[in-house]
Amino acid sequence: MTDELLISGRFAVVGNPIEHSLSPRIHATFARQGGQQIDYRAERVEVDAFESWVSAFFDTEGRGLNITLPFKTRAFDVADTVSDRARRTGAANFLTVNEAGGIHADNTDGKGLLTDVRANAGWTLEGARILVLGAGGAVKGVIPSLLEADPAALVIANRTAERAEALATEWAAQPIRVLGGGYVQAAEMPWDVIINGTSTGLSDEMPALPKETVLAEGCCCYDMAYGKRPTPFMRWAVEQGARDARDGLGMLVEQAAESFYLWLGNYPDTQSVIADLRQL
Ligand code: NDP
Repeated sequence: MTDELLISGRFAVVGNPIEHSLSPRIHATFARQGGQQIDYRAERVEVDAFESWVSAFFDTEGRGLNITLPFKTRAFDVADTVSDRARRTGAANFLTVNEAGGIHADNTDGKGLLTDVRANAGWTLEGARILVLGAGGAVKGVIPSLLEADPAALVIANRTAERAEALATEWAAQPIRVLGGGYVQAAEMPWDVIINGTSTGLSDEMPALPKETVLAEGCCCYDMAYGKRPTPFMRWAVEQGARDARDGLGMLVEQAAESFYLWLGNYPDTQSVIADLRQL
C-alpha cells in the first residue's frame, strides 16, 4: 500500500530511439517529493507517425509530453499555440493542453542549460566569449537563452559550416556579435566558455577542433552529452587547463524541472535528483 496520490492524466517523453531515457525516473522522483505518483512513460514513436500519435495522446487523457530526437521541430509545428521562447528556437521539447483545448508548445532546454551553468555551477556568462560547437537541434534550442545571458561574443562552429552560418544569420540583428562557420572559427579568439552541443560524445569522439583553439584563463567547458564517465570533450578541456568541465546531466534534470513546473505548478528540488542519477 502506498499513500501517494496519483496525478491525474498521462505524461510521456517521445522519441526514437527512447529506450535509455532517464526522464520517467526523473519525473517519478519529482512527483514523490510532493507525495505523489505520476504516470510518465517513455514512448518510442515511428518516425512517420509522430503527428497522429500526439493527436491521439491528447485525445485520450494525455496531459503532457516531453519531446526528444528527432521530433523537436515537428512538435513545434504540431502545436496550436507556442511560447515566445519556443518561437525563437523553432523547436519544442514540451507540449501541453492550452485553455482552448488545443496543443501548446514550449522549449525548456535553454532554461535547463542556463540554470545548470549559472545556478548549479556558478559560471558567469555575462561578458563571456562563448564558443558553441554544433548546429543541430540542441544548439538551436539554447542560442536564445545564451544571448539573454548577455555574453561579449557568441561563435557557433560546426562540422558542416553552412549549418552554423545559417544559424548565426538568424541572430544577426542582435547587439551581441554572433558568428557561425566551420571548426576554423574556434581559433577566432580565446574562450571563456566552450559548450559542446555536437553528438560526438555518443560515439566517444571529440569534435576535430584546430590546435590553435585557445582557452582563456578560467575557461569553463560544458558537454551537453552525459554518461557514466567524463566525455572525450571534458577530458580534452581538462588537458587544456579548463577551470571546470561539466556534462549535460544537470541540464537534463533542469529542463525536466521546468517542464514539471509548467504542467503541475510546483518547482521540484533538482539537486537530490542529480545526485541520485550520478549513482546509477
Ligand atoms: P542533432 O542530430 O540535431 O545535431 C548533431 C550535431 O552534432 C550536428 O551539429 C552535427 O554536425 C554534429 N556532429 C555529429 N557527429 C559529428 C562528428 N562525428 N563530428 C563532428 N560533429 C558531429 O543532435 P542534437 O543537437 O539534438 O543533440 C546533440 C547532443 O546534445 C547529443 O549528444 C544530445 O544527447 C545532447 N543533448 C543534451 C540535452 C541535455 O538535456 N543534456 C538536451 C538535448 C540534446 P553536422 O551538422 O556536421 O552533421
